[in-house]
Amino acid sequence: MSSKPANKRPSSLALRLTLWYAAIFTISSVVAFTVVYFIITSILQFQTDEDLKEDVSELSATFINKGLDKLREEIGVEATADGMDKVFFRLTNKDGSQIFATDMTTWPGLEQDISVIQSIIDDSMPVLKTFSVPGHDHKARVIYAMIDENHVIEIGQSLEEDDEFLDVFRNVFAIALPIFMIAAGFLGWFMAKKALRGVEEVTEAAIDISKGKLDRRVPESDRGDEIDRLAMTFNSMLDRIQTLIAGMREMTDNIAHDLKSPLARIRGIAEASLAGKKSIENYQSVAENTIEECDRLLHMINTMLDIAETETGITTQSMKSVDLSNIIKDACELFQTLAEDKNIELNCTFTDNILINGNVHYLQRLIANLIDNAIKYTNEGGRISVNLDRTNHEAVVIVQDNGTGIEEKDLKNIFERFYRCDQSRSLPGSGLGLSLALAIAHAHGGNITVESTPNQGSRFIVTLPLAN
Ligand code: ADP
Repeated sequence: MSSKPANKRPSSLALRLTLWYAAIFTISSVVAFTVVYFIITSILQFQTDEDLKEDVSELSATFINKGLDKLREEIGVEATADGMDKVFFRLTNKDGSQIFATDMTTWPGLEQDISVIQSIIDDSMPVLKTFSVPGHDHKARVIYAMIDENHVIEIGQSLEEDDEFLDVFRNVFAIALPIFMIAAGFLGWFMAKKALRGVEEVTEAAIDISKGKLDRRVPESDRGDEIDRLAMTFNSMLDRIQTLIAGMREMTDNIAHDLKSPLARIRGIAEASLAGKKSIENYQSVAENTIEECDRLLHMINTMLDIAETETGITTQSMKSVDLSNIIKDACELFQTLAEDKNIELNCTFTDNILINGNVHYLQRLIANLIDNAIKYTNEGGRISVNLDRTNHEAVVIVQDNGTGIEEKDLKNIFERFYRCDQSRSLPGSGLGLSLALAIAHAHGGNITVESTPNQGSRFIVTLPLAN
């Protein structure tokens, strides 16, 4: 059911793109045809006009040089050659009286226009006019011109040839247009399908992923176009999701594993008490052990909740200007007894008045976790130093010990939830302390880094931005 709309979309988009393509192609073709049609029409008219003017000058030369009879003869030959219904000639005096004309019976309605004759006499420029001729399918182009200072020649020519040429042009276009439209449709469809192929691949990948194939990826090409960028972004998003899911899986495995042990211990204690001596002392010790295990469980659960809360961000309302020097001082006092119990030397040095913007409670936990770890992972007689200083923009806390140290392979993992190095498994702990410390540092805009050498000691460096 869910895959249907996903399948439907690209094809309808392809159809719409095809229709757009065909429509744009058709409109452009019609516009191009119209423009070309008008250009051809004016070229033909220009050509006709030039031919008529040339005829006039030839006839004028004949008349002036060879006389009226020769002119009449030449006109007769031309009119017969072209056809009396295609061309006519008329020679008149300046007053409009006709000297001679070819057969005008096929040119009804083309009477002499004395006003035109008058106008060419006035400015001695030929006049060209287009007329509809009754009974003719085609119009006629007529030139009126002086062939000497006393005579006017009138030559009319049917535009039949031009019209036929334009007819052919129109017909060719009318036949070609639907063919081109169908070809454009196919081409548009092919191009739209090709362009949308990438989108379809992303959709197919998304469908596969929704069916559980999390390692499915969209094939990437090196074209570097929009679709390629979409595929790359989609793939990197999938990589990230896959990493997150793997991380969540690992975390739930760890949680299940780490909660199982205390619960198994509680169950073991209860079982042993049922099987053992039923004395008040025995029950009391069972109750004490159960409470201890429950406390450990609660502590673990609360720390997990704290990490989750800190990672989503500490609210700005709970942030205020805090003197980090006081926090370091108090923490050192608090852990002094614990360090002494283990015969460890705990030295604290700090610059006064280092103000940062933060949450006192969380900052205390960050420092306490680091000092607590340093004591836990340092052997008796060891040395721990806690130092607070500042740079221009940051407060820097360094917690250094000469304890067991951390192996290179573990260094990148110790901030992961529930991660514990092999050599620490015999000691109490949940593997959550450093995760919480890092989440707190990040929530304050800071960071924690670590340097360590096995059997020589570790150095945790906390940087936190100073208050403005
Ligand atoms: P834990 O509850 O195990 O101390 P943490 O998250 O605080 O959990 O620390 C994770 C692991 O990092 C510890 O199990 C330990 O192996 C290692 N570790 C942390 N601090 C130190 C230290 N100062 N010296 C050596 N190893 C340390």
